[in-house]
Amino acid sequence: MHDKDCIFCKIAAGELPSAKVYEDDQVLAFMDIGQVTKGHTLIIPKTHTKNIYETPPEVAQEVFARVPKVANAIKEAFQPAGMNILSNTEAAAGQTVFHLHVHLIPRYGKDDGFH
Ligand code: 5GP
Ligand code: ZN
Repeated sequence: MHDKDCIFCKIAAGELPSAKVYEDDQVLAFMDIGQVTKGHTLIIPKTHTKNIYETPPEVAQEVFARVPKVANAIKEAFQPAGMNILSNTEAAAGQTVFHLHVHLIPRYGKDDGFH
């Protein structure tokens, strides 16, 4: 499913550019434009789903199954001390793009800019 007004659907379809970290038939991982910390990456399903509440289990499985591979690629490239992995769900929790995405936020210490 493709939502014509969704920015992440456009990124997944290659209609908008992104700095890709990993891609296969089901998911895309790309650099977050905001770079909360160095290497901040998002993983999205190519199919449109608003957030985890509305995500079929098989789509969630596709996304979350790729987390270890992408996390290790970021770890290797950026050598962070740790990583926060999260999915903001609904506006009240900070969700601003309503296409499911998992943030991988490399951590370099408590003063690295992420709170
Ligand atoms: P949310 O606040 O919904 O959890 O996260 C949305 C994220 O998408 C933000 O961290 C924001 O920087 C990122 N973002 C928004 N628009 C774009 C874009 O066009 N390209 C990329 N690479 N990231 C985007
Ligand atoms: Zn979408």
